[in-house]
Amino acid sequence: MTVLVLGDQLTRRVGPLAARPDERVLMVEARAFAARHPYHPHKRTLVASAMRHFRDALRDDGRDVEYHVVETFGDGLDAHFDAHPGDDLVVMRPSSYGAADRLRDLVAARDGALTVVENETFCCSPAEFDEWYDGGTLRHEDFYRYLRRETGVLMDGDDPVGGEWNYDEANRETPPADYEPPAVPTFEPDATTRAVQDDYADLNAESWAAPEPFGWPVTRADALAALEDFCEHRLPDFGPYEDAMVAGEPTLDHALLSAPLNLGLLGPREVVERAVEASESRDDVPIESVEGFVRQILGWREFVRHAYRVGMPALADANRLDATRDLPPVYWDGDTDMACLDAAVGGVRERGYAHHIQRLMVLSNFALLYGVDPHELNRWFHVAFVDGYHWVSTPNTVEMGQYAGDLFATKPYAASANYLDRMGDYCAGCAYDPDATTGADACPFNALYWDFLAENEDDLRSNHRMGLVYSHLDDKRDADDLAGIRERAEGVRAAMSEGESPRNE
Ligand code: SF4
Repeated sequence: MTVLVLGDQLTRRVGPLAARPDERVLMVEARAFAARHPYHPHKRTLVASAMRHFRDALRDDGRDVEYHVVETFGDGLDAHFDAHPGDDLVVMRPSSYGAADRLRDLVAARDGALTVVENETFCCSPAEFDEWYDGGTLRHEDFYRYLRRETGVLMDGDDPVGGEWNYDEANRETPPADYEPPAVPTFEPDATTRAVQDDYADLNAESWAAPEPFGWPVTRADALAALEDFCEHRLPDFGPYEDAMVAGEPTLDHALLSAPLNLGLLGPREVVERAVEASESRDDVPIESVEGFVRQILGWREFVRHAYRVGMPALADANRLDATRDLPPVYWDGDTDMACLDAAVGGVRERGYAHHIQRLMVLSNFALLYGVDPHELNRWFHVAFVDGYHWVSTPNTVEMGQYAGDLFATKPYAASANYLDRMGDYCAGCAYDPDATTGADACPFNALYWDFLAENEDDLRSNHRMGLVYSHLDDKRDADDLAGIRERAEGVRAAMSEGESPRNE
């Protein structure tokens, strides 16, 4: 028997590695995975370096670890079964849809056996979720409250700590003009990380990205240090400024823990417990900070994991609004006069990261209004973000951001410059006018917004949550403004599809 450890299951605390401390361990680092997509160089480095550090930590513990650096995953299995014919492997269920079946076939083709056990890197098991869901309405808030009750996190008996389940409305403050968020720690590459960078230098040489020096946590110790740093320095202001966007501040008070969480270096339960402990032991952590953080990890992260499980495979092909346009080049080259898009794409090009409100309200929102094929955008999120995996990006992008599925989103997250100007300060330094809809300097979001509503009127007008915006669209139509707006939108798309910043009248 051998424990197979996949690259996003780097934990000894749960699963077969914990349950079978004396069994041999198999890990396969396949270059073909890294070469399959134009991944951000930091992502290639992060995953391979975290795997190699995990291998070394297991060996330091005295475990027998076979680690194969090979071209394909099948080559790694060949090497293993040549040495151990007929071996039985045990693995935690992979997060990606269909991956367990593909693994089983690969192992069976080499006359081995594979046992797939529950993936214990999440808080809520599939059985627990399915019992709660029972085929009814998939609502995040309901699930979140259920899981708070089940886990006892931020609970005071049967009631939520502070009296409210959700302090979302307190998460929308704007930082003062002179606000300086605490710096996010970076972790200097060691010899192992530098070796990974050398090994993947050929794949990374022609990258679309413009990576800054690598500094992501790649070990359990680094990840715990990142967690401590967040709780110590950024958790207090995380809540109030959670939805803010500030020019020149790409990380604000965000945790940046999704990358180590999605690799298994941190567990969601310990992360949540540490934040709650910090809030209980100090006076400077308001309830909207700790609750907002718990909602992201215990609520949203667990919810999308199961929404993906329940929604696949249909979600992978969903396209309810029939959006088919190509992703404009700005998502890869970052070349634009649009300050908000420039900042969000710039952060992705530099470090494979943008914070959650940039993801939803700039990057996803713009693609939605532009009419990008949701699956092309999903692929971009998957390859460009250090924390992007199919189980994460598909529900967040296809369902939530692009309103392409029919799973849990109740209306599209579509917004014009009005929202972006209210929640961020990019507009003040932008070449475009957030208050104009037509004209050479009009913010491109505005014409695209009204055009999106007009283009998808058959699908969206009957949505009762869209009634007000359609009454505004009617006003524009009645005033004979809509044709000019739609012409401007077409000009925006034409320019951006060519990699130009729109300047047409
Ligand atoms: S004016 Fe438009 S493009 Fe410029 S920052 Fe504001 S929302 Fe973005």
